Amino acid sequence: MSKAARKMPEGAVGFDGEGRLTFLGRPVVMVSRRGLALIQSNLDGLLGERATAMAMKRAGLTLGREAARRYRGSGREALEEFLAWLSLAGWFSRARVEEFGEEIVVRVWGSYAEEYPGARGPVCHVVAGLLAGFLREKTGRKLLVREEECVAAGAESCLFRARPV
Ligand SMILES: [Zn+2]
Repeated sequence: MSKAARKMPEGAVGFDGEGRLTFLGRPVVMVSRRGLALIQSNLDGLLGERATAMAMKRAGLTLGREAARRYRGSGREALEEFLAWLSLAGWFSRARVEEFGEEIVVRVWGSYAEEYPGARGPVCHVVAGLLAGFLREKTGRKLLVREEECVAAGAESCLFRARPV
């Protein structure tokens, strides 16, 4: 994905017949990155980081599996297309698939976690879940996705590694 200025594809954002905001034809709520970070940091405080991470990752997993069914093809190209749409939706600004073999490695820049500074470890649980769900559905393999580097914990970018369970 290029670093150059991008434009939202025509028709990607709209309204349904009842006036609900839609993205790619599905109703959405536009939440600021700060809003999402606030939700997550409040859950961290109330439930603990581990429970929050599991809950958010599970939500991502479900969404990633559902999304995978809407993409034709399999393998690296499908993953790259999915990443491009996630970046349009604001989860991060750009992404690169660094490895696609037994292990799958994805690096993303400009994650929403930039709004979540001072974390002790990775916090992009939804993105990790989205990748896990998408890859599980597309590859038919059960993969464990771990975020190894995260902007919220001081890294330049976020690095996700998927390995067979
Ligand atoms: Zn991150």
